[in-house]
Amino acid sequence: MSKNNDELFKNVISHAKEYGFVFQSSEIYDGLSAVYDYGQNGSELKNNIKTYWWKSMVQMHENIVGIDAAIFMHPTTWKASGHVDGFNDPMIDNKDSKKRYRADQLLEDKIARYEKDGKTAKAAELQQAMDEALKSDNLTALRDLILEHEIACPVSGTRNWTDVRQFNLMFSTQIGAIAEESDKIYLRPETAQGIFVNYLNVQKTGRMKIPFGIAQIGKAFRNEVIARQFIMRMREFEQMELQFFVRPGTEMEWYDYWKQTRLKWHKALGTNPEKYRFHDHTKLAHYANAAVDIEFEFPFGFKEVEGIHSRGDFDLSQHQKFSGKKLQYFDPEINQNYVPYVIETSIGLDRMFLLTLINCFEEEDLSEGDKKDSRTVLRLHPCLAPVKAAIFPLTKKDGLPEKAREIMNRLKLDHNVVYEEKDAIGKRYRRQDAIGTPFCITVDHQSLEDNTVTIRHRDTMAQERVAIEQLDQIIGNMVSWKNLLS
Ligand code: ATP
Repeated sequence: MSKNNDELFKNVISHAKEYGFVFQSSEIYDGLSAVYDYGQNGSELKNNIKTYWWKSMVQMHENIVGIDAAIFMHPTTWKASGHVDGFNDPMIDNKDSKKRYRADQLLEDKIARYEKDGKTAKAAELQQAMDEALKSDNLTALRDLILEHEIACPVSGTRNWTDVRQFNLMFSTQIGAIAEESDKIYLRPETAQGIFVNYLNVQKTGRMKIPFGIAQIGKAFRNEVIARQFIMRMREFEQMELQFFVRPGTEMEWYDYWKQTRLKWHKALGTNPEKYRFHDHTKLAHYANAAVDIEFEFPFGFKEVEGIHSRGDFDLSQHQKFSGKKLQYFDPEINQNYVPYVIETSIGLDRMFLLTLINCFEEEDLSEGDKKDSRTVLRLHPCLAPVKAAIFPLTKKDGLPEKAREIMNRLKLDHNVVYEEKDAIGKRYRRQDAIGTPFCITVDHQSLEDNTVTIRHRDTMAQERVAIEQLDQIIGNMVSWKNLLS
């Protein structure tokens, strides 16, 4: 990370804490590694991202419905899905620092460093060797690459490495009162399987016709070997997933459709398009026949935010095999029964949250001549802003608070709004800028006479005098989901 990017990332993290977006979990007990809590503004922003996703996937598609499956599932689910045997990360320990790393991530960091130093041929050579080792599950080859490229532990600085071992990422627990091996269940490592096991329930009760999709937002748990970069890699996180069921043979058309549709969803938020790119997988997961990541340029480089996978009939066929229940579809158009193929789109809600925060964070210099001034502003899309408007009485007397509360009570029926009367107006503006509130409404003495207020716009800081009765329309227009969905 360059010094500027490093500083930007650090500033975003401390801003997230200072303004009630993200806190370390159980902080008063020194925290729990890679687990985070969302604060008063964070949970609003997170909910708004979820709403944007849900509306654009479920509400805007006649052939997509949403479900909410339980986190606990029958343990055979994870046998069938391949997670019990295959959901592993290659890990390696440094014998001196006793720190544990993902072998592939150590190599990826080295590749990034080669690229940064202009050693592109070396980077490509290492990438290819790593891909081959991962593809063939050759753990010895991974270790050899770490030694050959002289990768040292960032903590101890030594190259005293253990062998590379596989490490299953699933958390397990016990169901019922008596702990027996047969009662072992897992916390789901992905939400997808909750959709697959409900495929038939939804298809039959919803009378769904192929192609159709089932969407879900929910928690997932992975015992990540190393967790880093704030909420980028967590042990408890949230996914927003779509499984889209199609006729075999049409999957590549739908794969392309969802690739474009998902990228459009990201870009609609107004993000600089150059910050996004597709990255095709070279090593395909055990279930996929095509896979691509949507990557975003974080301060620490391009990283995956969302995965789009063509999963074939792997999941439904496996559940059919392990459950003994037929999971097929009768297609009246071709008069045939088949197990549908699946295109999956899977986005990490927390990574999307981080992306959004980084993208909208600005430390703006407002100095004029010798007069130094600055503000930190979150230029959030108004639909995503935690608070849509803040209402301020200019002073705490003369009936201004009452008038301001009257406005607040009306606006709160439609929007999340706040009332503030403490400190000078300028300070109140700054506090709202820092959480991305698009509008600040000030009630002054003139308001009592002619029912007008000043409305101040976050991005331009411009103020205008408007009639109180216009407020619903002005705010409503700016925060309408139509701005993102049409
Ligand atoms: P990575 O390669 O970064 O570990 P992955 O390829 O294992 O991710 P998927 O299994 O495809 O990820 O999960 C879909 C999405 O879920 C990812 O694109 C990411 O946004 C999110 N995700 C996965 N693991 C985590 C995690 N530990 N913390 C936060 N989000 C995650």
